[in-house]
Amino acid sequence: MNCEWMNIGGTNVMICGGRKKPRCVSCGRKSEYQCDWKVAGGTCDKHICWKHVEQVGEDKHLCPGHQQAYKKWLAQQSEQTA
Ligand SMILES: [Zn+2]
Ligand SMILES: [Zn+2]
Repeated sequence: MNCEWMNIGGTNVMICGGRKKPRCVSCGRKSEYQCDWKVAGGTCDKHICWKHVEQVGEDKHLCPGHQQAYKKWLAQQSEQTA
């Protein structure tokens, strides 16, 4: 997590995450989405721009890495049901 010290009104406070403008993990462009892939302890939360995001469900967006994982998972599902 990104943490940095800020001086607010003469008090030093540590601010973690969220302050820096999020950038797409693929291209560094401004990110508008975060990966919703479930990982241990929460969601992936990688930042992705509109160009690299893939929406796979209502309010479900995936980073490029997890788009691959999702495709694999889909393939597995269809193998099992076939
Ligand atoms: Zn991008
Ligand atoms: Zn992800």
